[in-house]
Amino acid sequence: MPKISRRSAELGTENAFVVLAEVNDLVRQGRDIISFCIGQPDFSTPANIQEAAIGAIRSGKHGYTPSAGLPELREAAALYMGRMRGIEIPPEDVVIGAGAKPFIAYSILSVTDYGVGDEVIYPNPGFPIYESQILANGAVPVPLALRETRDFGFDPAELEASITPRTKLLILNSPQNPTGGILARKDLEGIAAILRRHPEVWVYADEVYSRLVYQGAFASVASLPGMYERTIICDGASKTWAMTGWRIGFAANPALAPQFVRWVTNTESCASHISQWAALEAIQGPQDEVDKMRSSFLDRRDLIVRLLNQVPGVACKTPGGAFYAWPNVTEACRMIGAADSEEFRRRLLDEAGVAVLADIHFGARAAGEGQHIRFSYAASKPAIEAGVARLADFIRKNERGAA
Ligand code: PMP
Repeated sequence: MPKISRRSAELGTENAFVVLAEVNDLVRQGRDIISFCIGQPDFSTPANIQEAAIGAIRSGKHGYTPSAGLPELREAAALYMGRMRGIEIPPEDVVIGAGAKPFIAYSILSVTDYGVGDEVIYPNPGFPIYESQILANGAVPVPLALRETRDFGFDPAELEASITPRTKLLILNSPQNPTGGILARKDLEGIAAILRRHPEVWVYADEVYSRLVYQGAFASVASLPGMYERTIICDGASKTWAMTGWRIGFAANPALAPQFVRWVTNTESCASHISQWAALEAIQGPQDEVDKMRSSFLDRRDLIVRLLNQVPGVACKTPGGAFYAWPNVTEACRMIGAADSEEFRRRLLDEAGVAVLADIHFGARAAGEGQHIRFSYAASKPAIEAGVARLADFIRKNERGAA
């Protein structure tokens, strides 16, 4: 049998997809499962966007587009991303991709070399693809701990201590997956002050949840003086317009755009032509559906945080953005005799039919941060109420010393 490369055999993944397969198996066996696993809006793509795609199909938009994307979409995305961040972004700095995700790999590939010790700093817990792509592309992962006491921001002193002469890239993600934490403008100013002392470090600003901020205004590190040129801004259509399956993302950087175009040519050739016309309508069409979705997420955030904080052994901070809650279950683990959050998660699924993810799906647990699980609250209110009630019952029933 020919061999599989170590790079591929050891490639990491997004465990949300693994747990989801587990959940689907249980559902097929007839189990009643309430799932909080999936990280995508539970809405349909707005009708005007669907119509734009149908119109594109009917009018023969069937061929390749330029690898950088349709000029109309690059221009609209540049204007949109610039307006959101209070900066001017020239269309030639923008590249359209098949989702925001590919730009994680393209950025690591464009600023680090394989196997020479180039380091990438990334948030921990964080979107698991950061770490797997850093490793797969032969760079050195340097996790930066997010602290519950800082509302899941990091300690700037820890950031400064993590930077070495080998650091090539710092990945920031705000609003954040999995904690829902946000980097406020004053946090970003602190980060920018540190980065000014290290001009050789690129920044990847993963801002795919930019329209889902509930506390204060969305802020981007790219807006701060001197930061635009060294920051890769990444945003996309998936979360904002409920378009995860359409696969459209936008990245902006003046020096790296031509590199990204070349990576796109070498991989997917271009993002879906049809989806690009849909994304143009998403940006330029009415935004009332976006506002409705946001306010629905906000309602559900308030509901789930309130309910979780009534569960014995569970403490949940109020997340400032995205659609994730990240309760601390250290005490709940102790109460039911679970060794850690992963055992807690498995038992919660098996015994109570509630599917969540555990902190270890988002990186190794940082020392002193305790045990956490992730709820995606892109679920109906009745599902949130029933799911959290099941969680409370599960803990009560299993509490050591319970009658
Ligand atoms: N970054 C983060 C932080 C995410 O949570 C996700 C999706 N879960 C992505 C990027 C990828 O989004 P897209 O669908 O645009 O590829």
